[in-house]
Amino acid sequence: MASATGSRAADGVSRGQLWAALGWQPSSVQEEQLERLQEQLRHWNSRLNLTRLVDGDDYWIAQVFDSLWPLVPLLTNRGSSSEPLQLIDVGTGCGFPGLAVAVALPQAHLTLVDSVGRKLEAVGAMAEALGLGDRVTLHCERAERTGRRPDGRGRFDWALARAVASAPVVAEYLIPLLKPEGMALLYRGQWTAADRQDLERACKPLLARVVAVDQRHLPGGRGCRHAVVLSPAGPCPGVYPRAVGVPARQPLGTRSGR
Ligand code: SAM
Repeated sequence: MASATGSRAADGVSRGQLWAALGWQPSSVQEEQLERLQEQLRHWNSRLNLTRLVDGDDYWIAQVFDSLWPLVPLLTNRGSSSEPLQLIDVGTGCGFPGLAVAVALPQAHLTLVDSVGRKLEAVGAMAEALGLGDRVTLHCERAERTGRRPDGRGRFDWALARAVASAPVVAEYLIPLLKPEGMALLYRGQWTAADRQDLERACKPLLARVVAVDQRHLPGGRGCRHAVVLSPAGPCPGVYPRAVGVPARQPLGTRSGR
């Protein structure tokens, strides 16, 4: 049940306005889970200094809304598949977008990857506290390694990354993880024609393509966001992802990265 103090989502935007703007309404159980996630984030943040986005609009808009808006078609699609959707959040940090998506998609399985152990331990504890433990798997490792694991490569319906690296670098992390019909979702802030050109150049060797770029203004004047969606155009060549650190040092599509 949503608490009385929780009914105001944020500094200026009511919870009702927030969901109306999002175009998706959580169940009372999901809303309560999102409130508990905020409590958990506060708890772990006081110990580990994970993020500054924990209170008011910072949490409800810049974390929850921002994690969910590109996935609203998925959240509102009552698909008939008996198989749980497999999603992976690469560079999950303090658990976003992954934990918000795990709450919003109760049929899905989430794999959360980050190379920083203390962050992932906190994320694991948060997932357990929310009762998500059986639907959330954690990998403390570099994404370049995840893309080479037998249980990582080619296994996911959706691969997500927010605020991890430049788009060409993130594309090299995410594309090898996808099933043939899977989608990679890159959460971006600003997005220019030059960014798209760089990404398209990086997608060529990965045998992937840009299928959509959606734009959204966050409520409460929180700025403009872009959701860039990629899909495989063929099997990703086995040389990708390259060794740990190489994608970031020599991004695909640049002179140094070919
Ligand atoms: N996605 C979260 C968010 O939006 O709040 C965290 C963003 S934080 C700025 C970037 C995170 O990506 C860090 O926790 C970092 O450890 C992780 N990261 C960066 N490169 C990575 C890589 N190659 N493999 C795994 N994790 C990586």
